[in-house]
Amino acid sequence: MAARLNLVVLGKQGAGKGTQCKRLAETYAIPHVSTGDILRAAVKAGSPLGREVASVMDSGALVSDELVIQLVDERFKEPDAKNGALLDGFPRTLAQAEALEALLGEDGIKLCINLDVPIELVTRRLSARRVCQECGAIYSDSDVEAISGTCANCGGDVIQRNDDKPDAIRKRLESYERDTEPLLAFYEKRGLLVTVDGAESPDDVTAAIKAVVAQRGLA
Ligand SMILES: [Zn+2]
Repeated sequence: MAARLNLVVLGKQGAGKGTQCKRLAETYAIPHVSTGDILRAAVKAGSPLGREVASVMDSGALVSDELVIQLVDERFKEPDAKNGALLDGFPRTLAQAEALEALLGEDGIKLCINLDVPIELVTRRLSARRVCQECGAIYSDSDVEAISGTCANCGGDVIQRNDDKPDAIRKRLESYERDTEPLLAFYEKRGLLVTVDGAESPDDVTAAIKAVVAQRGLA
């Protein structure tokens, strides 16, 4: 049996990570495992671990690395993950990456795909977002001209949220880059890091990733 295809996908907000994760999970028939999803699933299942997660989340605290690692461990043991899994949103820190390595051992992460997009480009993409204050419908700045600032669904005012203003976005992206650097170095050192130009079209990005997976004989 071929080794498991365990992938980690990293990318800042606006880098097209969601799209690529979905495509890769389909291509390689491995589950797309996002931390948010496994936390929600655990709470819903009401397992002992899930109840622990629920009480941490109810208290407003962050779920600890140990808890997340245990959940990832359980998730990796499920039947649909027998050929591997694609991790999205985890690991987020060096400590998590080390814990994950200890957990998976020999059959660990095979590739860490870094979707690299210049901060300037994503800032432009993300700051195009406009939101209806009433119903939350999402528009782009070019739509807003067409609807003259009024929501097509409900007639509410369509605005740019403070979070979506260029300065706020840039700050968020810069702190992401700072936090992710040690993680990139960790996978680089193990020869597992591949950086893909996320500014290319989604099809080109997918093709570039698939080429690396094939070249390395991973699938
Ligand atoms: Zn609306």
